Amino acid sequence: MGNNRKPDQDKIDRLYKKLYDEAEQGGYHLNPDTEFTKDLVEGLLINEERYGYPSCPCRLASGIKQEDIDIICPCDYRDPDVVEYDACYCGLYVSESIVDGEKQLTKIPERRPPVDQRQKPASVGSTSVSKLPLPVWRCRVCGYLCARDNPPEVCPICKAKKDRFEKFIENA
Ligand code: SF4
Repeated sequence: MGNNRKPDQDKIDRLYKKLYDEAEQGGYHLNPDTEFTKDLVEGLLINEERYGYPSCPCRLASGIKQEDIDIICPCDYRDPDVVEYDACYCGLYVSESIVDGEKQLTKIPERRPPVDQRQKPASVGSTSVSKLPLPVWRCRVCGYLCARDNPPEVCPICKAKKDRFEKFIENA
């Protein structure tokens, strides 16, 4: 793992642009307060350097990837928080109403459950669907489902990486 060096501004700007473009293509929005948003992007880069994965910049990570899997950005809680509160917990992603200035950001309560109540892997297989020719994979972040041998490298909807997919239905 690396140190806590501040990422250079170019790197922050590049990741900001990538996240912005992906968000807009996927029907999401970054917070229009660019300075605030770039601070969060910097936090993501620091966490990536520190832990090897971009865990949420406003939550404390354990440093163990499997324990932090639900808070790798975009976290499992982004979509329900944007729907309910118009922003994710950190305020990196916001609703269109915030972008349009129709609503103001408020403090978002922590949706992540205590460690003993966190999401377990989905139960796999059932008698009614056990004859599927391919397994079905589910993106834990946005719920996207696809039937294929292996999960996609990147979710086409929310851009979460391959390791955020879980096998939702086993094949025959
Ligand atoms: S999407 Fe989740 S992980 Fe990413 S910044 Fe927002 S709250 Fe943090």
